[in-house]
Amino acid sequence: MQFLTLSPDSFRYGVAEPVMPLVRRVMARNPSKFTYHGTGTYIVGVGDVAVIDPGPRLDAHRDALAAALLGSTVRAILVTHCHADHSPLSSWLAEETGAPTIAFGPHGDDAWDIGDDPVDTDEPETGDADDAAEARAPGDGEPVMEETTDRDFAPDAEAATGDVVADGDGWQITALHTPGHTSNHMCFALDDGSRRTLFTGDHVMGWSTTVVGPPDGDMAAYLESLRVVAGRRDHVAVPTHGPPIPDPASFVGALVDHRLAREQQVLDAVRRGLHTIPAMVEELYADVRRELHKPARRSVLAHLVKLVDDGTVALADPTGRPRLDSTYLPV
Ligand SMILES: [Zn+2]
Repeated sequence: MQFLTLSPDSFRYGVAEPVMPLVRRVMARNPSKFTYHGTGTYIVGVGDVAVIDPGPRLDAHRDALAAALLGSTVRAILVTHCHADHSPLSSWLAEETGAPTIAFGPHGDDAWDIGDDPVDTDEPETGDADDAAEARAPGDGEPVMEETTDRDFAPDAEAATGDVVADGDGWQITALHTPGHTSNHMCFALDDGSRRTLFTGDHVMGWSTTVVGPPDGDMAAYLESLRVVAGRRDHVAVPTHGPPIPDPASFVGALVDHRLAREQQVLDAVRRGLHTIPAMVEELYADVRRELHKPARRSVLAHLVKLVDDGTVALADPTGRPRLDSTYLPV
């Protein structure tokens, strides 16, 4: 049997391709600057199978999944998080198969109002709200934030870290709560007795920087969740978008370093007298196309939320939570 090489990212749409022993992938044809080549739906097992992230509501993808699952018995439908390129087809698949949908939980309630973007410009929108998920224009350093949330999603069963959520002949899958990209994000760890594979959803992606956008996205939680993954010593990480990642521990360690470097830049900016998010973005993202400044302001807010919570940055108005239009002061 031929398996996908770890790199380059070879794939075909609409057919189940073997990724590694026990694992097949069906790629949805929803490529965009938001989803790379598209959503990878994974089928784990032979005969009795688990499906990870059934994917977007596309007829062609639904039909491809149905064809790929002919002859299999779906025992569990695992959902990493409820962005619109991951969870919507789970209700269809549950109805077709009778298998339960399993996830951390529905989308979290927005914890506070982050306010409106204070920059009133005619910057072009970087994405259509119908384009699910998140993205980064290739070559740019930061993600574009245009995510659509599947707020109707509610799993049949809620899982916690350590729960065995699926098993089959010689393998089992364990849940791992990895909040940060969203508060309900989970990774799923497959152990087949010889190889440990972590399905990372959008927590760790092979091609782009994961969006962390307050209020549901949480940078402190994201960093902690990265450290958890870095400490696991899996053999391979398998993201929803992009190719498998060998040696995930070192890859994820580099992601942590990248985020901490950006955090330090934000802290330095506040200490140098840049007290608003637009001012910080003007300087920190001076070499980035202006159309990316809007998502950059959300990203800087994510860092500032953490810095305020850490006590290294203060809000001029200490009564509220950090917002896009807040004034930030050094401590
Ligand atoms: Zn996502």
